[in-house]
Amino acid sequence: MKTVFSKIIDREIPCSLVYENSGVIAFLDINPATRGHTLVVPKEPAETMDKLSEPSAAMLGAAIPKICRAILKATGATAYNLLQNNGTEAGMTVPHVHIHIIPRYAESTHEFSWRHDPISQTDADQLADSIREAMGS
Ligand code: AMP
Repeated sequence: MKTVFSKIIDREIPCSLVYENSGVIAFLDINPATRGHTLVVPKEPAETMDKLSEPSAAMLGAAIPKICRAILKATGATAYNLLQNNGTEAGMTVPHVHIHIIPRYAESTHEFSWRHDPISQTDADQLADSIREAMGS
């Protein structure tokens, strides 16, 4: 079944278009966290980042700085967050890879409240080892 983002890409439903090329589309979030909140979406309908092809990932990566620059210029935001959810447990509601660009302003009062737990050096070493190992397989 097509996601709402594939429907936007296929022009079946409207969007406030910010940027588009052959591999990527960017549009304003319909429910913005801040003014200028933009979603950058690869046209390939991969559900999560780990399923995205390298060519699509490259196009996505190339588009993001360009779009960030334009958002800063157009909104006067002084900072921004990039946010990217993968899977329901991570808060993803549209199962099609997308990166949130959330402009931040001097007067922004909202803050992210991420919890940070320290990790032991041994645990960190083992974890980093196993991630590096998984990358090679
Ligand atoms: P996520 O929770 O990371 O999956 O984010 C999905 C985002 O898509 C939410 O911030 C929604 O507000 C946004 N969204 C859903 N439908 C639309 C739409 N038709 N046009 C623009 N943004 C949308």
